[in-house]
Amino acid sequence: MKKQNEYPDYMWATLKWPEIAERLKLVDTAILPCGAIEQHGPHLPLDVDFYDADYLAKKVAESCQDPKPFVLPPVPYGVSYHHSEFKGTICVTNNSLSTLIYDIGMSLAQNGIKKIVILNGHGDNAPTLKYAAQMINRDAKIFVCVETGETSDVDIYDLIKTHNDIHAGEIETSTTLALRPGLVDMDKAVDETLDLDNEFLDFTSERGVSWYAHTKLLSKSGVMGNASLATEEKGKIIWDIMIRKMTEFVETIKNTPADKLYQNKY
Ligand SMILES: [Zn+2]
Repeated sequence: MKKQNEYPDYMWATLKWPEIAERLKLVDTAILPCGAIEQHGPHLPLDVDFYDADYLAKKVAESCQDPKPFVLPPVPYGVSYHHSEFKGTICVTNNSLSTLIYDIGMSLAQNGIKKIVILNGHGDNAPTLKYAAQMINRDAKIFVCVETGETSDVDIYDLIKTHNDIHAGEIETSTTLALRPGLVDMDKAVDETLDLDNEFLDFTSERGVSWYAHTKLLSKSGVMGNASLATEEKGKIIWDIMIRKMTEFVETIKNTPADKLYQNKY
């Protein structure tokens, strides 16, 4: 009787197989959240990227029109070798992650899914997830995309004060304060900003070129940004933006017939 709210029919893993079979006739879009278990400074839990990607995927599906896209169980582990000098970080290799994502994607295609939105909560998973997406597209010929904040980053960076706030800083501390304040130790929140006065090496510059570094060499605490500027209110605003923009994006994908997505050369 309470089934509708407690176990929404878009959550892949809690459906029975005949229910999935019926629903697949109506919906061909699935969201796959991917995260990481890695250090997030002395004040945030290790699961920020994993929890947030899962939360965003569910909120987006909930905000979509019926029939809502499927939401898959999240992939908790990611490519986090650059944080491995900090205890608690669990890292899987690029090869392991891409193989897993490829297998999940091929299996989804076999089930009848024609559009996969990989919702990535951890920036450094991006190259690996994009590689897997290409391989799924090559072999299953379905639409696969990877979203790592592109739909809303511009709005969020307009909102916050810190430049290069990329890890456990103003943004992630605010978004965690908004969802799980009991897990944030604000008295341990530190500020460590990156002094990158080169627009090409700047992580958040529009002209920034991708480069890679071990976090320990850039930050003593593991924070890259200004955690002390975080507030719950800011976090709520950021969540609203992310959910709204990502919902817009997923609706577009969901409502465009699969063959049209190709025709339009997206
Ligand atoms: Zn993070």
